[in-house]
Amino acid sequence: MRIILFGAPGVGKGTQAKILSAKLHIPHISTGDILRQAVKDQTPLGMEAQKIISKGELVSDEIMIGIIKDTLTGESCKNGFILDGFPRSKKQAVDLDGLLNELNIDKVFIVSVTADEEDLVKRLSNRRACKVCKNIFNYNEVRDKKNCPVCGAENSFYQREDDTEKVIRHRMEVFNSTTKPVLDYYSEHKKIIVVDGSGTIEKVTESILEKLK
Ligand code: AMP
Repeated sequence: MRIILFGAPGVGKGTQAKILSAKLHIPHISTGDILRQAVKDQTPLGMEAQKIISKGELVSDEIMIGIIKDTLTGESCKNGFILDGFPRSKKQAVDLDGLLNELNIDKVFIVSVTADEEDLVKRLSNRRACKVCKNIFNYNEVRDKKNCPVCGAENSFYQREDDTEKVIRHRMEVFNSTTKPVLDYYSEHKKIIVVDGSGTIEKVTESILEKLK
C-alpha cells in the first residue's frame, strides 16, 4: 500500500505514520526526519537545511525531490510506503506524480488529517520528542519521566528548535500559502480521504484504517 499523509504541522502525521507503518508493514518516510538526521550528521545537506528548518521555511523543491527520488527508488519502498511531510508544494506534488509514473505506480492513497490551527499551535508548543526512537510526546506526559516510555532511553527528550511559538506560527503561514495548494492540485485528479485529527491517537488511527478499506 502507498499512502501520502497530508496535514498541517502538529496534526499528528508523524505519530500516525509510525503506527500505520508498523500495522501495514510499510516503511515510514519522513522528510523532516531525513533532514534532521542530515543536520545531526553535519553533512553538506544538513548544514544547509539547519538554517532553513530553524526559521520554519521550506528546503528547496530540487533538494527535496532528489531525496524522495533516492528513497522511493530504493529496495525498501518496493512494496509500499507512507510519505510524511512530502509533498509540501505544488511543484513537489507534480514531480512526485512524474516519479510515480516512471515507477509504474498508479494507486496512491492521499490522506488529509485536519485539526483547528490554534489547537495545533498549542500542541506543538508542548511537543517533546525522544532523540533515540523519535517518538513524540506531550510535555505533561513526560515532564517527570527520566526514561522514554517507548524505547527506554535515558534523558532523551528534547524540544525541536522549530517548536517555539514564533517559528510555529511561521510554519503555519507557510503551510497555508505553499502546502495547502497541494490538496487543490490532488483534488483535480485524485480522491482525498479526509480524517479528523482532533481525537485521540487511537481514534485517528482507527478512522484512517477504516477509510482506507
Ligand atoms: P517536519 O518534521 O515534517 O515538520 O519537517 C521539519 C522541517 O523540515 C520543515 O519545517 C521544513 O523546513 C523541512 N522539510 C521537511 N519536509 C520538507 C519538504 N517536503 N519540503 C521542504 N521542506 C521540508
